[in-house]
Amino acid sequence: MKFTPEKYKIADQSMKSFIDVEEINSLIDHSIATPELVDQVIQKSLNKKRLTLQETAILVNANDPESIKKIKEGAHKLKETVYGNRIVLFAPLYVGNKCLNNCKYCGFRVSNKEQIRTTLNDQSLVKEVEALQDNGQKRLILVYGEHPEYTPEFIAHTVKVVYSVKKGNGEIRRVNINAAPLSIEGFKTVKDSGIGTYQVFQETYHPESYKKYHVSGAKRDYNNRLTSLDRAMEAGIDDVGIGALFGLHDWRFEVLSLVRHANHLEACYNVGPHTISFPRLQVASTFKQEEKYKVSDEDFTRLVAILRLAVPYTGMILTAREPEAIRKEVLQFGVSQIDAGTKIELGEYAKKEEDIVDQNLNREQFKINDDRSLGDVIDELLDDSYLPSFCTACYRLGRTGEHFMEFSVPGFIKRFCSANAILTLAEYIMDYAKPSTAEKGWKVIEKNLVDLEEFKNTDEIKTRIERIKQGERDLYF
Ligand code: SAM
Ligand code: SF4
Repeated sequence: MKFTPEKYKIADQSMKSFIDVEEINSLIDHSIATPELVDQVIQKSLNKKRLTLQETAILVNANDPESIKKIKEGAHKLKETVYGNRIVLFAPLYVGNKCLNNCKYCGFRVSNKEQIRTTLNDQSLVKEVEALQDNGQKRLILVYGEHPEYTPEFIAHTVKVVYSVKKGNGEIRRVNINAAPLSIEGFKTVKDSGIGTYQVFQETYHPESYKKYHVSGAKRDYNNRLTSLDRAMEAGIDDVGIGALFGLHDWRFEVLSLVRHANHLEACYNVGPHTISFPRLQVASTFKQEEKYKVSDEDFTRLVAILRLAVPYTGMILTAREPEAIRKEVLQFGVSQIDAGTKIELGEYAKKEEDIVDQNLNREQFKINDDRSLGDVIDELLDDSYLPSFCTACYRLGRTGEHFMEFSVPGFIKRFCSANAILTLAEYIMDYAKPSTAEKGWKVIEKNLVDLEEFKNTDEIKTRIERIKQGERDLYF
């Protein structure tokens, strides 16, 4: 699948800004979404072609209930054909909440004097990772404030500590990062520690709103943040994650900008973002959100479906910021990864219930809305016939970036991703699942094996499941 660059007023150049506010506003103001056009755009996406900015603008302007219904149905269909029923699971691990920035919406902002500042030392980090492994986690995203202590060397060190922890059959096989933008040299240092994805969210792509919310500190520099993942790419990190914090500016503007960002990376580096995140603003300390840009549940589910259609080949991440019911709904529209068993207070995974004395907002960044355990989330996924996955095979086999796009190989997802999902679920069942979950899990595995029969590797998968039952671990295709 070759990407044909669009003509933009600002041409794509690596490490140069690519957002043209006028162009995006004009697309929002002037694109007319007739039902025929909406149908055509959805059809193009169902043919697995990524959408242009103009086509995405048509979808964000489709306000009539019938078109919105069709967009959601289209996203559902695309998700089923491209991704199947797998949902990849991970957990965030907050390493340090010291921060010199003043992002008005974040509990970690420097001006929030109520916040207890902590950086996990190696010993506490190990305890956290052990607790996460005891729950069955295999994939983490490490999260840091922006502070001189959190140098690239420090980040790389924490990544290595996390990989070194092995408790029982537990191990962390993929560490992703959500931290401040770095220089090319800094990104290289972090890359060498063996990370998966480096995420930097632009928060809002609208420069004026950006200035309003980022009052002081290094993060106030809009362009430095906008081009940060170009630097990551220059440093050789070809798995990058983009995102916008929905609720700071008009959601339509953010959706088009995310697509623009994806196109920019593809135009400059021949590889788009690995993932898109779309966190919705949550209550944080004393921060009051502007009503004007609040994203309703209806608009949120709609924007997730539009993003799915616009970038059919990009992973989409939904977090526990969203309540259970919304998570359940948007899983249908194309989300491929969710966190589960999430705790965002520093050091909280290793804490015993009786140690948690107050529920104040003093060590966490914002309030999460889905605090179910990993086991409970897996239970629900199985009940809804999803296939929970802890797979980390691609990046460990070097199948990343432009050299490898899982989607360019016909049948890859089913042959490899589904098979690996089955094997990692089998491991989870053997090591961590309660009996009722195990029973459901084996049934889901059986059903998926039947669905995979056309790929002729079911015998090999079955053999490997037996090996897992005999005690072998970490088998993948
Ligand atoms: N400090 C780094 C940064 O700002 O990029 C990385 C970590 S920051 C803790 C991770 C993300 O949390 C931010 O990029 C932002 O999108 C999100 N976030 C901050 N405050 C939030 C809030 N009140 N509700 C939801 N998400 C929030
Ligand atoms: Fe610091 Fe990141 Fe929070 Fe901003 S969003 S205050 S940079 S931790």
